[in-house]
Amino acid sequence: MIKYRLICDQGHEFDGWFKCSAAFEDQCKSGQLSCAVCGSAKISKAIMAPALARVRGDLTSREDREKRALVDKLIDHVENDFGYVGKDFADEARKIHNGEAQAREIYGEATLNEARDLLTEGVPVAPLPKPPHKKD
Ligand SMILES: [Zn+2]
Repeated sequence: MIKYRLICDQGHEFDGWFKCSAAFEDQCKSGQLSCAVCGSAKISKAIMAPALARVRGDLTSREDREKRALVDKLIDHVENDFGYVGKDFADEARKIHNGEAQAREIYGEATLNEARDLLTEGVPVAPLPKPPHKKD
């Protein structure tokens, strides 16, 4: 089997597997190949140019940037809308869960063991992807 990077006349790229290069030519000529996106039967082999590697690199860094932006947004949201309880997080989360403290969204610091205990007790906690900026 050989894999070809294929492209339709609308510019959609996708991968196709063929027994051999002749099999690709046959299927292509008889119109058995169609674009997975638009259904066009005008398919040709995409040219594997060095430019493609550059594009992939750009995509990866864009994804990274988007991921970092999402994390920053989450941290911002937590810092703006959640109450900071510092090292009392585990106690406070447990009190809220048990109805002993006012129900609200909080964030703070907990050890791995504390977080594990909370989850075992059914207290919904989630780790933050990165530590928020500490508040005084
Ligand atoms: Zn297409």
